Order: sequence, then C-alpha cells, then structure tokens
Amino acid sequence: MPQKLRIPSPFGFIPFPDTPVQRQSVEAYQHHRFEESLCSGEMTFHLKNLTMLLIASGRDEEGFPKPRNSKKTFVTSQEKPIVPGSSLKGLFRSTYELVTHSCLWMLSDYYKATGVAPENYEPLRSNRSKLRRCNRLQSLCPACSLFGFMSRDESWRGRINISDGILIGDPRFERHRALPIQGQPRPKARPNSDKFMDYLPNDQLAGRKHYHHWSQPPRTEPIPKDKGTTGQRPIEAVPLSEGHIFEFSIHYTNLTELELAQLLESVLLKSGWAHHLGTGKSYGWGSCRVEMTAWKEIDIRNRYASLTGSDQNLDTSQREARRHDLSQHLPQATHQAFEALEPYLNWDGRPKEGYGFHKR
Ligand SMILES: [Zn+2]
Repeated sequence: MPQKLRIPSPFGFIPFPDTPVQRQSVEAYQHHRFEESLCSGEMTFHLKNLTMLLIASGRDEEGFPKPRNSKKTFVTSQEKPIVPGSSLKGLFRSTYELVTHSCLWMLSDYYKATGVAPENYEPLRSNRSKLRRCNRLQSLCPACSLFGFMSRDESWRGRINISDGILIGDPRFERHRALPIQGQPRPKARPNSDKFMDYLPNDQLAGRKHYHHWSQPPRTEPIPKDKGTTGQRPIEAVPLSEGHIFEFSIHYTNLTELELAQLLESVLLKSGWAHHLGTGKSYGWGSCRVEMTAWKEIDIRNRYASLTGSDQNLDTSQREARRHDLSQHLPQATHQAFEALEPYLNWDGRPKEGYGFHKR
C-alpha cells in the first residue's frame, strides 16, 4: 500500500465568529453630521512585490475579451504594467472584512470553485443568516459602509477612493512560465478529507479563504510542445519578476478614528507581514509588502476657519506616532482577527517547507 503523504495545503480557512455582523445606517456620513469629529485625508503608499507578480488582464491588445486558457499577461495602461485600483480595493477590503467581521462580499474564489454566484447562494441571501450580504443603505456592515456596496435598488460609493498602482521604473518580465496544473477545491468534498479543503461542509461556508507564503515557490515548467490533451495543457503566463515598486494613494473622507485605525492596519499589516495579490497565490506568486510614503490629514475645522487652509503633511515620525495613537482604538476582536491571520500573512516567519497540490 503506498504511503500517504501529508503535505499541508497552500491555503486554509479562517472560521467565522459566532456573533452576528453589526450593521448601521450610512445616513450620518451622507449628511456630514459628525464631520468635525471625523477624519479625512490622503495617504500614499509603495507596494513592492517580494515574489513574481501577475495581475492578469482579461483583454487582448485590441481591448477584446481574451478566450479562456489563453496566455496570461499583465494589465497595462499606456503600455506599462499597472495594479488597478479595483485590485487594490479588493485586496484591502478582504482583510478589512475579516478584521471588522463584515458581511461576505469578496467571494470570487467561491464563485470559481462552485460556479454559483455569491448573490445566488442561499446562506448569503437569507435574512436569517448572520453572514448575509448587506442589501440596504439603512443597514450596512463596516466594510460596505467604508468600501461601498451595491444592491438591486440602492448603491453607496463608500468613503474611500483607491488609485491605480503606478509602476516606478521599467518592468522586467519572467518569460515562458507555465501555470502549474493544480487541484481545485471541490464544493462537495467532505470536510477535513485527505484530498480537499472544503468550501461547503454541511452546505455552509468553511470560513474566509487565505493563502500561505512560500519560502521556495514551486518551479514552473516549460510549456510542452504538442504534448498532452488540451485540457491538461498548462497555461502560459508572463509575470513580473520580483522587486518592482508600484505607487498608489488612498483618499478617505469622514472616517471615525476606529475606521481609520482598522483601515491602516488592513493596508500596512504588522511588521514582517505581506499580502497576497493577483494570480498564482497558491504557488507563491504575488507576495507583496506595503509601506506608507506620505500622509496628509485634512483638518476640516481649520479649513473653514482660515482661507489659507491647514492640511497637515505628516513626516515619518509623525506618521508612526499617529498610527500608534489610532491603534489604541482597536478592540480585542480586531487583535484576535489579526492573530488568526498570522499563519497566512507572516512573510518573515514563513515555513521552510513547501505545500502540496492535489491534481484532479
Ligand atoms: Zn456588508
């Protein structure tokens, strides 16, 4: 009998808390009732990719949708790679959702695995469900209130705006990479089975999906010529080499100090941690670190009191001090959520050994 290898999966699930999602109306922000005690401003960041990075474009050079399984190339603007603001928004929103225990909005992986759109999945629609997606302005979870939401009848653009990430310097690409053929999570697989991590044990979501960082990403193989069936043929991909820097900004309006603190921690993470961005996360691509390079706080009280304005550009030590002060607002639940993220986001402490895949 062949020996069973127990190799950890490159991803896992963080279970949901038992408490219901807290929701409130956005009316107060719409009417600027509290603007004097709320925070507004703009922060600039650098995102550096620590491993290969691919934000795959769904369009060809002419702007037409690409067929499935065609070569994956980086999204560009004026012939230079960019990280679209929508990708950054999705990245930070998923972390913010976890740390604020918000509704389940970011579930694209779920869709890929099951073919069922999240809005059609009963546990996310039912009013009895603690996790159901927000569906009205009178009752929004923390993430929908900050990042925006859309339902059939109503929409809210949120209170932050994230720019595209602009590449500093020239791009260097990795040529002729093949995406490894990997197993897909199977929706109906049994929980804790040997083969598959589970999205739907007992027809419930297993938790929020997160990836691990790799010490040595698996070697990607050359594209075979005229070998194998088309179904098993690897897809060619052209990721950026490691070590590029993209600059982006976040503009925020009327945030409470708690919201600003949770946003900052979701973007910057703890020292030595890194995000997972783009294609190929399950084999170590897209590990990215974010650092702040500028922070301008808009003082609304003074702005109306004086014609010269008094926006505050914070220097490095002021930025650190402000972040530290804001972090005092973080409740215990936020700290616990970050503890749950530690095995997935701790780049400096990532394990030496690799992870396993299960081919279909
Ligand atoms: Zn929501």
